[in-house]
Amino acid sequence: MSTLDFRDLPEERLATTDAEGNRIWIIPARVRGKWKNRKRIFHIILLAIFVLTPWLRWNGEPLVLLDLSERQFIFFGKVFGAHDGPIIFFVLGILGFGLIIATALWGRVWCGWACPQTVFIEQVFRRIETLIVGNRAEQIACRKDPFKPKHLMKTIGKWVAFFVVSTFLAHTFISYFVSWEKLLHMMSKPPAESWTVFLIVSFFTGIILFDFAWFREQFCIIMCPYGRFQSVLMDQNSVTVAYDYKRGEPRGRNLKDKELKGAGDCIDCYKCVSVCPTGIDIRNGQQLECVACTACIDACDEVMEKIKRPKGLIRYAALADIEKEGRKVVRPRMALYGAIMLVLLIGFTYVVNAHRSFYISVLRQNKRPYAVSEYEGQQYLINNYRIHVKNPLRQPAEYKIRLVNKEDMEMAPNEIKGTLAANQSLYLPFFIRLPLSRWQEKRNLDLELEIQFQEKGEWVKRPFKSHIVGP
Ligand code: SF4
Ligand code: SF4
Repeated sequence: MSTLDFRDLPEERLATTDAEGNRIWIIPARVRGKWKNRKRIFHIILLAIFVLTPWLRWNGEPLVLLDLSERQFIFFGKVFGAHDGPIIFFVLGILGFGLIIATALWGRVWCGWACPQTVFIEQVFRRIETLIVGNRAEQIACRKDPFKPKHLMKTIGKWVAFFVVSTFLAHTFISYFVSWEKLLHMMSKPPAESWTVFLIVSFFTGIILFDFAWFREQFCIIMCPYGRFQSVLMDQNSVTVAYDYKRGEPRGRNLKDKELKGAGDCIDCYKCVSVCPTGIDIRNGQQLECVACTACIDACDEVMEKIKRPKGLIRYAALADIEKEGRKVVRPRMALYGAIMLVLLIGFTYVVNAHRSFYISVLRQNKRPYAVSEYEGQQYLINNYRIHVKNPLRQPAEYKIRLVNKEDMEMAPNEIKGTLAANQSLYLPFFIRLPLSRWQEKRNLDLELEIQFQEKGEWVKRPFKSHIVGP
């Protein structure tokens, strides 16, 4: 596989493919600078959050656990169940609109700063590669002559390290779904005792290895859906990594040219291209392949410092800044996105406040919702119900249900109560009985129940209302 000649980027196709469609390998040059340092700190924080979160607990519960087999999701000690669809809707809405707003304001800030693809490749896999294989020149030499014993040893060492790291990352990822305690227990037994989890972890190890060690920038360029639609979210007021062509053009080939009257600040040194992980030339304008990684900012700043020109020929800027038209932060699309976000935040606050872990629903028996029967010479109307109680908590919880508007109604059994073990779910039948004459008098009777359950030692009340049905 050939490596990219960054001084000869093709105009008619992706820089990462040759004329036959084969992949051209990109080995970006090393870069130093303030943005690289800031990003490194931020990425290390993100990596620490990813690795440590499954180990942390909150009020005795895991900080985050997405237990799909039990359909139970724990965040900051709060237990959510499959019945909490509205919360998931609002969370996804807020995340989605957060990304849309961030893109409209700051372009592909997500890609450069927080996307796992960037974080893992830049801070983990490229570092391992540099540590084992060496700098850019050594990596190119390794690819050009892969069977030289020294190169072969380095390549094998690199892939062994990639495999170990991918296995650890896959286990960490899966621990969000089964918890580390369970995972360590499974790991202490033969794989045959937990085949499903073993196969899932193996699958994710393979995916991570394939993507971060080999596929890399190809995912951003040809597969990422966000990369496809980000251009419609941005306009000339969105701040992104941009080349100041007004200042840089026409390019001088070297310092002597630079002294020529009328030459711009760009000395055409190709430093910004050599560090680009997606193999593009930012001087050609905004391109779909740009993941806003900021490497070209640092590279160009270093050059500007050397030739004693102001830094920032490539910088975070909106097209409107470069055109000197004045950037507008408040614009119709931002007002619309902001209004939608506000509605989502209000909705989210409401559903979270109304959320109860314990799940109770009262259902009418659909096959035979009512019946008429005679008892001791009097006719009664009977409404049949069944109640579904589910305790998604990790400790037993008590529940009780009683009739509120007695009038002439009776509930059988008189009071429903009991204790549910952790994760237990039950269906309990009960019926409401009232004299048929009472129903015939009014024909519009409400049923009111008071449902109580224990959550973290406290009794929580929830009213339930329904209508009596009859002939
Ligand atoms: S690094 Fe700066 S000076 Fe060098 S080619 Fe890129 S934009 Fe021009
Ligand atoms: S053009 Fe600059 S910001 Fe964009 S991907 Fe390349 S190096 Fe990163």
